[in-house]
Amino acid sequence: MGKKKAKVKKAKIKVDKAEAAERIRKILPLLKKIYPQAKTALRFTNPLELLIATILSAQCTDARVNMVTKEVFRKYRTAKDWAKADLKEIESDIKSTGFYRNKAISIKGVCTEVIERLGGNIPDTMDELVKLPGVGRKTANVVLGNAFGVPAIACDTHVIRLSRRLQLSGNSDAVKLEFDLAEIVPKKDWTLFSHMLIFHGRNVCKARKPDCQNCQIAEFCPAANGPALW
Ligand code: SF4
Repeated sequence: MGKKKAKVKKAKIKVDKAEAAERIRKILPLLKKIYPQAKTALRFTNPLELLIATILSAQCTDARVNMVTKEVFRKYRTAKDWAKADLKEIESDIKSTGFYRNKAISIKGVCTEVIERLGGNIPDTMDELVKLPGVGRKTANVVLGNAFGVPAIACDTHVIRLSRRLQLSGNSDAVKLEFDLAEIVPKKDWTLFSHMLIFHGRNVCKARKPDCQNCQIAEFCPAANGPALW
């Protein structure tokens, strides 16, 4: 039997909301300068494609998802195509994205419901999106922000890590953290802000080795060069 990895619960950091809001005021313009083109790397041409690409992106790189969707979006053009497809065939088509059995069930389930209950249309509200099987707030926020232009903060692992390091939120729970950010980031910037944190997390503020020496927002970061990098 393999060793069980101990689960480390991240401590809740105490964050002063007024100070966090002030930090946002300072880092937002900087991040906008550094990442003027920040947007999702997932390729899509309509809300259905983005919803499926987002489901496929769990535990998978965006580049790999784009390689797979380039093919599957030619084969399955509508929610009906996915809903009526054989589960095994979907599994085989999306296999290289990993966790393909669960993803295939999720995609087929979502598309079946979209056909049967929503007339084939992907909903454009959080309430309706999270009613779809297997769709959580993160996926819903990606679809709202990027396919419908509705301001939305998608809290992925980078957004959570950077928000904690920058002491914008003390929470590690994605939903609580999303609500914390929503209080201090101007609504019009919600979608862009999550993309900019993702870019910064990938390029500079990496999980294991943040490059604080070359970080352009270090001046305003409580974790800069400090021992406590959460
Ligand atoms: S200063 Fe360091 S910890 Fe803070 S955002 Fe930059 S890279 Fe991350």
